[in-house]
Amino acid sequence: MSYDNNNVFARILRGELPCQKLYEDDATFAFLDIMPQSDGHSLVLPKEPAAVLADLSPAALQATMLTTQKLARAVQQATGAPGLRIAQFNGAVAGQTVPHVHFHIIPCYPQQELRAHARESADPAALAAMREKVVAALAALG
Ligand code: AMP
Repeated sequence: MSYDNNNVFARILRGELPCQKLYEDDATFAFLDIMPQSDGHSLVLPKEPAAVLADLSPAALQATMLTTQKLARAVQQATGAPGLRIAQFNGAVAGQTVPHVHFHIIPCYPQQELRAHARESADPAALAAMREKVVAALAALG
């Protein structure tokens, strides 16, 4: 799949669009999903330009998985969610809406259905408050 340099995540990575940033290192970047399926829904992406998992280099895949685990721990601690769903879609037919490979970290809460995928924008103040909590949990986990 060819890579579109102007997809929304490429623009976030270049700093052209805002995000509620959670984490960054040399190879990966993470921020809150703007239309969360549950409170704390986060996204982890490689900086390497790749549309789908199959296009990603082994080094970028490894870095992305390590960041996904690190952030999953922090999201779980920050939200108190007893479970997490990790999801990753490849291609529009599979439900992918942004063509830059990414992993979803979706907290799951008792007796709570997940909200629809990429449907409803969250309150910006609620996202900012969640960001504070996740960043604090990341710092605490070291
Ligand atoms: P996917 O459908 O797997 O490609 O997931 C894309 C995700 O990106 C969806 O969950 C959207 O809610 C989310 N999303 C789209 N635009 C933005 C944005 N500007 N900032 C944060 N998350 C976004």
